[in-house]
Parts: sequence; structure tokens; C-alpha cells
Amino acid sequence: MRDDIAADVRQRLIHDYKMRPRGDWLQRGTCPQCGEKELYANGTEPWAIRCGRLNKCGFEASTKDLYPDAFGRLNERYPATSEKPNETAHAYMGFVRGLPEAARGWYRQGRFWHPTGDRATATVLFEIAPDVWMERFVEPVRVKEDDGDVTVRKQHFHGKFKGFAWAPPKQRVGDEIWIVEGCIDAASLACAGLSAAATLSASNYPGTCSSEVGSTSTLAACPTAPGSAKRSPASAMRAPRHLPLRPPGPAPSSGTSSMATPCPASRRT
Ligand SMILES: [Zn+2]
Repeated sequence: MRDDIAADVRQRLIHDYKMRPRGDWLQRGTCPQCGEKELYANGTEPWAIRCGRLNKCGFEASTKDLYPDAFGRLNERYPATSEKPNETAHAYMGFVRGLPEAARGWYRQGRFWHPTGDRATATVLFEIAPDVWMERFVEPVRVKEDDGDVTVRKQHFHGKFKGFAWAPPKQRVGDEIWIVEGCIDAASLACAGLSAAATLSASNYPGTCSSEVGSTSTLAACPTAPGSAKRSPASAMRAPRHLPLRPPGPAPSSGTSSMATPCPASRRT
């Protein structure tokens, strides 16, 4: 948890529940369910509050649910500056998506605006190929379409990505590569030590990449159907389907290889 957000949440818990700081903990808060002064929270990482009367009460709540504004408004709270041009994107990737700082440099910050949208937002931009990129919005944008309907957009594609995939740069591909739909899922897997690539769409076969990866690699599919975006890569990994990584046409001749060199998706600065 970012220090500034932890400090904000800490102050709110002290004010709202009369918690008292003690060492690394907040204690003796008034439980909203049983009324006893048994409410506590981790003072350094106040993700949740819990009642100490585990069997007689058992109250617990997420501070994200209690104080959503303390965790949101990233565009306003962490604006990009000339010194920190990726600040909003870093805040989103680190705080909202939980990626470590090691993932910085795999993306850059962009900006999305639509003439009939309700707001502009910073984006996390993944470069896929020359003049082809995908942007995940830091905050969703409601757009009034030509037919009058309002749609909520969370991402934007620029250019044609058919045949391409995005892969974290400089990862070595050995026996296995995890294929997912979303760039952030691929980044999460890479941070967990797995080789991964994102196809950007469930119907996109990344032949431009896979034909050059090599015949001895194994492709492990992590299906992420529409509407299942909140499924973590870890949960998808519990039942992987292993498929031979072989493009249509004659089988490649030999060898493992590095995604860093052959895959256009990883030729990025
Ligand atoms: Zn209680």
C-alpha cells in the first residue's frame, strides 16, 4: 500500500472508529456491529478492519469498500508531470493492479479523450508493434455513442494487432509460455517468473510471434472470456490446457529461443 494512502486510511479509521495507534497496529476501535471496543487493523497496511470477538461477532470490512475515494481518483491524485511522465500509470499498475516496480518500463502513460466522453483519463499504454498499441484506462470513460446509447469504455486499441502479441521485454522462453488475452495479465505472470504473452483478443492467433518462438516450447492457454477480466492469472492457471506451440504450415526445424529477439511485440524501447 502506498504510504500516502495508508496515512489517509489510518487517519479515517482513527476518526471514524476511535481506533488508537499502538506500535504497528490500530486497536480498541468501536465495532460497528457489536459496539465493543475490539476493532483493530494493521496500521502499516490497513487493508481491512476486524473485530477481535471472532466467535461472538466476527465483523470485518475492507477499507477499499469503506473508503473508495481514498483508493480512487488516480488522475487527480497522481497527475503526470514533466519530471514524472508516467506517474498516473505507475499508480494504477502498482496500487490498483498490484504489479511491482519491476514492471515499470514495460508500458508508458498515454491519454484518452473522446468528444462525447464524460472525462479524459490517463492510460497505461502497451506498444505492440510500430503504430500499434493497446491502452488500459486508469478510470473508465462513459461515451455517448451515435445511436444515443452510453457505453463504458475501459480500453482502446490503435492500429491492427491481428497476428501480433504483446510480451514483456527480455523474457527468456524455455519449455513453456503462458498465453493470455490481456497485457496486464501477461505482465503479472512475468512478474511471477513465468514466460507470458498477451494475444489482445480471444480470437487473435499470434502467428507473427509464435512462428518464430520455436517448436520445443509449449503453449499454455489461460482463457479469459469476456466478463472474466477480474479472474486472476493464478486462478486461470489452475486448469491450463497445454498445446503444442506450432504455427500453421511446416513445423519449425529446431531449438528454443528468446522472445526478446524474434517477437515483434517485444521489440520496444
Ligand atoms: Zn464486533
